[in-house]
Amino acid sequence: MQPAPEVPARSSYDAVIVGGGHNGLVAAAYLARAGRSVLVLERLDHTGGAAVSAPAFPGVPARLSRYSYLVSLLPQKIVDDLGLRFTVRRRRISSYTPTVRGGRPTGLLVDAADPARTAARFRELTGSEREFTAWQEFYAMTSRVAERVFPSLTEPLPTREELRRRVDDPVAWAALFEQPLGETLEQTFADDLVRGVVLTDALIGTFTNAHDPSLRQNRCFLYHVIGGGTGEWHVPVGGMGAFTDALVDAAAAAGAELRTGCEVTALATDGTTAEVTYRAGDTERRVGARQVLCGAAPATLDRLLGRPAEQPGPEGAQLKVNMLLRRLPRLRDTAVDPRDAFAGTFHIAESYTELETAYRLAEAGRVPSAAPSEIYCHSLTDPSVLSPELAAQGYQTLTLFGLQLPARLFTQHGEAAREAALKAVLEPLDACLAEPLADCLAVDERGRPCLEVKTPADLERDLGLPGGNIFHRDLAFPYGDPAENRWGVATEQPNILLCGAGAVRGGGVSGIPGHNAAMAALGR
Ligand SMILES: Cc1cc2nc3c(=O)[nH]c(=O)nc-3n(C[C@H](O)[C@H](O)[C@H](O)COP(=O)(O)OP(=O)(O)OC[C@H]3O[C@@H](n4cnc5c(N)ncnc54)[C@H](O)[C@@H]3O)c2cc1C
Repeated sequence: MQPAPEVPARSSYDAVIVGGGHNGLVAAAYLARAGRSVLVLERLDHTGGAAVSAPAFPGVPARLSRYSYLVSLLPQKIVDDLGLRFTVRRRRISSYTPTVRGGRPTGLLVDAADPARTAARFRELTGSEREFTAWQEFYAMTSRVAERVFPSLTEPLPTREELRRRVDDPVAWAALFEQPLGETLEQTFADDLVRGVVLTDALIGTFTNAHDPSLRQNRCFLYHVIGGGTGEWHVPVGGMGAFTDALVDAAAAAGAELRTGCEVTALATDGTTAEVTYRAGDTERRVGARQVLCGAAPATLDRLLGRPAEQPGPEGAQLKVNMLLRRLPRLRDTAVDPRDAFAGTFHIAESYTELETAYRLAEAGRVPSAAPSEIYCHSLTDPSVLSPELAAQGYQTLTLFGLQLPARLFTQHGEAAREAALKAVLEPLDACLAEPLADCLAVDERGRPCLEVKTPADLERDLGLPGGNIFHRDLAFPYGDPAENRWGVATEQPNILLCGAGAVRGGGVSGIPGHNAAMAALGR
């Protein structure tokens, strides 16, 4: 995409899409393929929103998935419908969690392709077969729910009762949709580390704890275990930007006009036609639209319509750290090869107790001294994000996602909180390594370590995510009232639809709200 904003070809469009994130592009591609005139207006100088690849370190030929990094929720149907040239790859290892037992470094390796190896690691860690059996039963239950719920996400919104009937498993329904996840985890698992590994999926980007009565943790967990009908998380080949590039090609080939460097500043509608005001460089422009699809967050839509902001506003709770290493560090747990440990999700300080302690500290306004986080190495599964020279020399990318670090800490304590949060995630990581991570970091062309930190405040500034919330707002259970909101994308205005992560069944790299908004706009 060219950064220079051009004047749109028409004065009015069937659909104007606010934001060229991956969901806006999915909507644009579907609508343009259905013969609608479509204009996408993106405030940044590039498309993709939180689904992009970038050369994050000057002079270093590595394209990192700068924000989102794994794909699970993208339905194959969207890839097929839009003819996207985009593939994902399975990770060899599901997860590894280092710990110390009896004064000895050890860890829990989950190798989905090798149940015997996984069973042995569980036995060694917990001293019996019990936890592994519980683990297998628990995830068999979530897989059955995934199989039944995932296909519904690209259909008209079911009612709660319809979805409950579809799940057809009262125990699973109660565990995932009705009672705080902590109750289920405490009944199912005995080991603190095992409980924690399971709970992490409920806390991604979401500031909550196991017993939150609002079930925020259950909603986050659900979206992390139903993707693709299996709950598996895959590596996007070529990085997350490859997905966005494929969508740009599909939308443009179908005739959608994509304009970057165009920030929408106001929307006005009488319910039938709308006027979109946007800024292109120093120029303010207006364009008409029969329908407006908003791929920006609901809080942004409120602002554009001149509506008061909902209180409290959305809040993210994560720290993202992107790194490039000259080599993978050695582990204190010598029973595991680092190439296995880092290939899956590497959990740090994520026992059940540590997750709760970090939550309580952050809730009291303090940066936890040991913040839970998870790490994953993209280049072990897909070296194409590195130049052939870097790959041949053994360089590896590393992405770290820290939990329980709400935006409020960074707005209250600014730069000091950033430094404290970085220390809080790196120190527990170093404690699992047989050599300091700093010794393995690559350096950029100016000799600076290849390490980039993104706080929620950075995400708000860089990506326009209100409060740095990676899902635009709290995730919603995937049901509702179809009489009022057939596709989960309706707003108070009949010709303004949500097409981004803030829709019901939004959140994550899925394209689902983009698809559903297009279906709603087409009257399907
Ligand atoms: C650090 C991080 C890690 C994540 N990791 C994962 C992961 O591994 N897997 C996963 O599935 N999900 C992950 N997520 C979540 C996922 O990336 C997002 O939920 C998803 O990308 C949202 O896509 P979207 O198209 O709905 O919105 P966005 O990507 O937010 O795109 C919205 C677009 O609208 C533009 N915009 C905003 N306001 C205006 C305006 N006024 N005018 C014009 N344009 C505007 C923005 O610039 C942006 O390009 C992560 C997110 C972050 C931030």
